[in-house]
Amino acid sequence: MRCISLLGATGSIGVNVLDVIRQFPYQYRVVAMAAGANVERLAEQVQEFTPELISVCDERRAVALRTLLPSEFHSRIVHGTEGNMLVAAFPSADFTLSAIVGAAGLMPTLAAIEAGKDIGLANKETLVMAGSIVMKAVLKNHVSLLPVDSEHSAIFQALEAGRRKDLRKIILTASGGPFRGLTQQQLQHVTKDQALDHPNWSMGKKISIDSATLMNKGLEVIEARWLFGVESKAIEVVVHPQSIVHSLVEYKDGSVLAQLGIPDMRIPISYALSYPARLPLQLNPLNLTECGSLEFLKPDYFNFPALKLAFSALESGGVLPAVLNSANEVAVAAFLESKITFPQIAETVARTMDIVQEGSEDILEDILGADSAARREAHRIIENIN
Ligand code: NAD
Ligand code: MG
Repeated sequence: MRCISLLGATGSIGVNVLDVIRQFPYQYRVVAMAAGANVERLAEQVQEFTPELISVCDERRAVALRTLLPSEFHSRIVHGTEGNMLVAAFPSADFTLSAIVGAAGLMPTLAAIEAGKDIGLANKETLVMAGSIVMKAVLKNHVSLLPVDSEHSAIFQALEAGRRKDLRKIILTASGGPFRGLTQQQLQHVTKDQALDHPNWSMGKKISIDSATLMNKGLEVIEARWLFGVESKAIEVVVHPQSIVHSLVEYKDGSVLAQLGIPDMRIPISYALSYPARLPLQLNPLNLTECGSLEFLKPDYFNFPALKLAFSALESGGVLPAVLNSANEVAVAAFLESKITFPQIAETVARTMDIVQEGSEDILEDILGADSAARREAHRIIENIN
C-alpha cells in the first residue's frame, strides 16, 4: 500500500489523481490532502478518502470546511503555507503528489523533499522558480522526482530506452493552443473565454492561458532543463496540434523515440504513481487509424513571444526564470480579470524581466525576494499599461 499526500486535490490534476486512486484502492491510500478555495469539493473528497490531515489556503476556508464536515475531521484541518507544508511532509505519506498551481507549490514541494518523500511533480512552477535548489535537495535527500506533466512523462519514458550520455536532444511537443495561426493584430482582440477553450486538454485556468500564450511550453522547457539535466540548446520545441505524440528524445545515432497516447492526464499521473510498474487503466485505447494525420510545425516565436522569453530567462539563469514565472502569474490573473489584453501578458513579463534581475539561483531567499519584487513590478506595469 502506497500512502499518498496530495497537494491541489480539488484542481484538474488533483481530481484526476483521485480518479486513478479510486480505481486502485488496494494499492493507494490518500493520507493527507491540501487545496485552495473550493471547500465544497474538498469536503466531498475528504469524506470519500478520509485523510488524516487536511489543509486549505486560509483560516476563513478552514472555518468553512469545518462546517461542512463531521466533527471527527475538525481537529485534522490546518491552513496556509504552513498547513500545505505539513500535508506535504505528512509522516505516514511515502509519496507526495504536487499539484497546487503556481508559486504556492514551491515551499510545500521542498518540504516534502526534505522529509524524504518521493515526488510526483505536476507543479512545474516549482522547477521554473527554483530548479537548482530543488534538484540539489532531491539528490541530498535521495528521493525520486517523477514527472506528471505529459511531455516530461513522455521524455522520461523515452529515456528508459537509452543511456543518458547518448542523448542528443529533447523534443517537446506543444499543441499550439487555441490561437495557433493568429497574428499579433488578431491576438489583440481575443477574449478570455476563447483563451480558456483549449482544443485538446481540459485543465485549470492558469495553465489554459499559459497554453494559449505558449508560456506553458516555455515553463516546460525550463522544467525539462532541470528534470533531465540538459542545456537549453539541447531542447527543441515542435508544434503538434493533435497532442498524440507527447514528446520525443533523439539519441546520438539519430534514433528518435516518442511516447504516444490519447490526451488524458490519468496516463502520466498513473505512471508517476506506479513507476516502474504500469497500472491497467480503463481508458479508450489510442486508435492510430482514427486519429488522422499527425502534423509537426515550427513554433511561431514572433506572434507568441512568451516562448522566447522563457528560453532567454533560462539562458540568463539566476533569478530570471523565477521572475518570468511570477510576472506571468500576475499578468495571467490580470488578463482573466479583463485588465489587460492577451498580447500584454507577454509584454508585462518582458518588461518585468528587464527590471528585476538581481539574485542567485542557489539561494532560496533570493528566489523568494525576486518573486515578490517581480509581482510588485508586474502590478505596477499593469496599472500603467493603458
Ligand atoms: P487547477 O487550477 O485546476 O488546480 C489548482 C489546485 O491548487 C486546486 O486544488 C487549488 O485549490 C489548489 N491551490 C491553489 N492555490 C493554493 C494554495 N495557496 N494552497 C493550497 N492549494 C492551492 O490547476 P491544474 O490544471 O490542476 O494545475 C495544477 C498544476 O499542475 C499546475 O502547476 C499546472 O501547470 C500543472 N499541470 C497541469 C496539467 C493539467 O492538465 N491540468 C498538466 C500538466 C501540468
Ligand atoms: Mg504539459
